[in-house]
Amino acid sequence: MLSVELAKELSNQVNAEYYSAYLYLGMSAFATRLGLKGTAHWLFVQAQEELAHGTHIYEYIIERGSSPSFTDIAQPPKTFDGVYGLFEMVLDHEQKITKSINAIATQALQESDHACYQFVMWFANEQVEEEANVNDILDKLRLIRENRGDLLTFDNELATRVFVNPFPANG
Ligand code: MG
Repeated sequence: MLSVELAKELSNQVNAEYYSAYLYLGMSAFATRLGLKGTAHWLFVQAQEELAHGTHIYEYIIERGSSPSFTDIAQPPKTFDGVYGLFEMVLDHEQKITKSINAIATQALQESDHACYQFVMWFANEQVEEEANVNDILDKLRLIRENRGDLLTFDNELATRVFVNPFPANG
């Protein structure tokens, strides 16, 4: 069974992940209104991932024989400061999520609940990827904002290079 404190923090994290899904669905709808189908799709997939995260944590609380305690899911914003402002908000939000995940990991370590620590570490590593992906999007949007679209196209082309080992092992 989880400690009361860990059960509470994990329950709050379920809420945070479901709020994330809500936020990204709202952002997806906003992108749709702007006619940006690709951005809307990315955000919709992001929302689906957050639902999966929340559900996975819920299942873990149950698996550990504890009861989740849920609170209201807040209303997300309806409008955003353009696409750049939107992704800045995504980064800011994910940084907050990283902090709450790290706080749970610290609590689990303090309690020597190594199983919980290991469970939460998957999320900690996932957050590294989440933040890197959003930073990547913001970098590209900055190039577009500076009217350097050609440089972006050129860079995308270089990104497709695949390493082929020139010295494959002899069979
Ligand atoms: Mg998440």
